[in-house]
Amino acid sequence: MPAATATGIDRFSLPDAGGHFGRYGGVFVPETLMTALQELGTAYDLARQDPGFQAELRHHLKEFAGRPTQLYFAERLTEHCGGARIYLKREDLLHTGAHKINNALGQALLARRMGKKRVIAETGAGQHGVATAAVCAKFGFECVVYMGAVDMERQALNVFRMRLMGAEVRGVEAGQKTLKEAINEAMRDWVTNVRSTHYILGSALGAHPYPMMVRDFHRVIGQETKEQILAREGRLPDEMVACVGGGSNAMGFFFDFLEDTSVRLTGVEAGGRGITRGDHAARFEGGKLGVLQGCKTYILQNSDGQIELTHSVSAGLDYAAIGPEHAFYRDQKRINYAYACDDEVMEAFQTCSRLEGIIPALESTHALVYGLKRAKEMRKDEILLINLSGRGDKDVQQVAKILGVKL
Ligand SMILES: *Cc1c(COP(=O)(O)O)cnc(C)c1O
Repeated sequence: MPAATATGIDRFSLPDAGGHFGRYGGVFVPETLMTALQELGTAYDLARQDPGFQAELRHHLKEFAGRPTQLYFAERLTEHCGGARIYLKREDLLHTGAHKINNALGQALLARRMGKKRVIAETGAGQHGVATAAVCAKFGFECVVYMGAVDMERQALNVFRMRLMGAEVRGVEAGQKTLKEAINEAMRDWVTNVRSTHYILGSALGAHPYPMMVRDFHRVIGQETKEQILAREGRLPDEMVACVGGGSNAMGFFFDFLEDTSVRLTGVEAGGRGITRGDHAARFEGGKLGVLQGCKTYILQNSDGQIELTHSVSAGLDYAAIGPEHAFYRDQKRINYAYACDDEVMEAFQTCSRLEGIIPALESTHALVYGLKRAKEMRKDEILLINLSGRGDKDVQQVAKILGVKL
């Protein structure tokens, strides 16, 4: 077991065998799913220690997904802010357009190892669905993606992409007809078809082992970043910033820096129209401890424990719960959290596009909003890294509509 670190926490000791990150996480599922989760946990434990599995994963991350991604010096954003040197980790350059492919590939390889023939997934905006459809096409799995009917209408292009790649997209008509209901439906399918089916969950959320496993599959982001910044600047950065929906891109980016206590780590949630009930998705701004979809964490809920409505201009951050590992490191004061509101996001989206020739995903733009503010306060000899979790091609239509531009 590795020694305790400067933070006093051994990051590898988390979660414990029951999936707990301190008081968060766990396995809050119906009995019918316990066997499946245990089978998955055991298979993953074996796979993660198997050099053959890791080599296979590295191979596909390189050949199919396009790793390593660049750590790019954003010269004009740096000039614009007049402070810290800003670098962007270019996860937007990955195949299918976002970091999600790291996890989809990892879990697809695991599903193949477990002898599963069928894969299911949930999707909100469609990015995780597209990544899952792509890996299922590549490895020849039957693929079913659950998606809220409202999301299907908003993201019609992603629905068509998934279908082109051979996935069956099933609309979910329950409740608000968005991500939460899609996850419920995927869990229902899994209970029924668990022998043949693996469920590729798309964020560092849900019941154990998902938060740990999804984090592990994204660790490559931070591992590459560390090598790249040391090669380029000869030292660690002063601050790192990532957006937080469920928390997978942020956890993958931060994990290999948790022990480097000189590096300030900041996660940025969706402030939506502002911090009033129903208008945002910033779980650390008014969320309370609760259980949602398998895991104990911070949740936006009313006094009866009913889940609140959430809002964000970016569908990928629009979820009422946050990954349990984030809740833990927030308590430990190792990771800081901030939020960015829709109007600031719209502005930074255009600034980054205009100054760098890079159109960022609206999700990633939340990290940019905070990063650009911070860079202005920092000294010129300081270094700030921003994880650009995805590209904004999927968002241009929506942005045009908000800006009143007719296409
Ligand atoms: C899905 C998505 C997110 C949010 O998910 P996390 O699990 O918090 O990373 C962020 N950025 C992009 C581009 C996404 O597609």
